[in-house]
Amino acid sequence: MHNSLEYAQKQDAADELKRFREQFYFPRINGKPVLYFTGNSLGLQPKKTQDYILNELEDWATYGVEGHFHARNPWFSYHEILTDKTAKIVGALPQEVVMMNQLTVNLHLLMISFYRPTSQRHKIICEAKAFPSDLYALQSQIKLHGFNYKESLIEIAPRPGEKSIRTEDILETINQHKNELALVLFGGINYYSGAVLDMKTITKAAHDAGAYCGFDLAHAAGNIALHLHDWQVDFACWCSYKYLNAGPGSVAGAFVHQKHLHNLELPLLAGWWGHDKETRFKMQPEFMPIPTAERWQLSNAPVLSMAAYKASLDIFDEAGIDALTKKSQQLTSYLEFIVKEIDSLTQTANQHFEIITPPAPARSCQLSVIAHGRGKDLFNKLTSHGVIADWREPDVIRLAPVPLYNSFEDVFQFGQILLHLCAKEQ
Ligand SMILES: *Cc1c(COP(=O)(O)O)cnc(C)c1O
Repeated sequence: MHNSLEYAQKQDAADELKRFREQFYFPRINGKPVLYFTGNSLGLQPKKTQDYILNELEDWATYGVEGHFHARNPWFSYHEILTDKTAKIVGALPQEVVMMNQLTVNLHLLMISFYRPTSQRHKIICEAKAFPSDLYALQSQIKLHGFNYKESLIEIAPRPGEKSIRTEDILETINQHKNELALVLFGGINYYSGAVLDMKTITKAAHDAGAYCGFDLAHAAGNIALHLHDWQVDFACWCSYKYLNAGPGSVAGAFVHQKHLHNLELPLLAGWWGHDKETRFKMQPEFMPIPTAERWQLSNAPVLSMAAYKASLDIFDEAGIDALTKKSQQLTSYLEFIVKEIDSLTQTANQHFEIITPPAPARSCQLSVIAHGRGKDLFNKLTSHGVIADWREPDVIRLAPVPLYNSFEDVFQFGQILLHLCAKEQ
């Protein structure tokens, strides 16, 4: 690898996915496209998205309520056209996934089914400093069932001096609490450090302890290859506006493993969209659950946000998650190289960069970097120089070169800006 424009452009020329970059809008600052490394927070807008949404607006104008059955993609069953491609992204069978609601809503709905604590088994194991929304969801579910989260919520932190949780510590904690454990629930990729968890091993350990295992895949869906079905994960949920590029607050995903789908007695919060499709409009009083993940749907499909999701899903399907993960590893390795290179050129006694994301394969496209001695000030300067990254308290700059639309040249140019800013500070 080389810190040179020539090298970066050569990698781009050889990139099989390079055609996708121009299918996205890049925000501009002072008339110039930014260096966008925040696809882990809000993915860029595909240029096709407007057409997909306009189609639905047109059909609404043309058909009114009849669009439920006569739109080009009938709204009554709109979510169904998302199922197969979504299942591929998370490694599931089609009947195991459904797009509905939003992420935290889905987490709650799935926990209603998979966190049913008893006085013997009431504990949940999760990561320390979980994403606040997940933490609030966990705390409130424990409270809802009459337990105290100070006793029932077991949080695992990295060891002192380390930045990521070790799998062996998760397994050890599961074993330690196995008689009282109801649920193991982690972010599949930690939003702060970017560490990818060994979901297969953790799921098995949870099951061996007699507990369910679920994952929040907000940072994993559309980012790494997932095999939820084969890993035997009980349930999972994710949002579609990060790597999946479906736009702010867009419709979210949910997964329930096939082994639970035939259990029609599984408790859940029910709504009419989870009721048997054939008889839904007979408006009968008793709930007949659909024998797929669609059972967890409450409401009719949010078609406009689903149309935005479909635009991106079609691009994903064309690119293929295998090609994406392959490029992702190359691009992220290049970013790692560039950050280390600039560090070697600019570090001083009290200023240097530390990458806290573990090395491949336990990472995705996100690198979390602590700029020791520079911190938020450097981040702000990066922003004013047209680099859109993101800052996570207390001290981390997150950079996510996304294989679908970022280039090696983006990474090189980022390095040049970093060099310029750090050299000037000395
Ligand atoms: C982005 C993210 C969320 C956001 O939740 P919404 O319900 O979509 O607002 C929650 N949890 C994690 C781990 C996230 O990364």
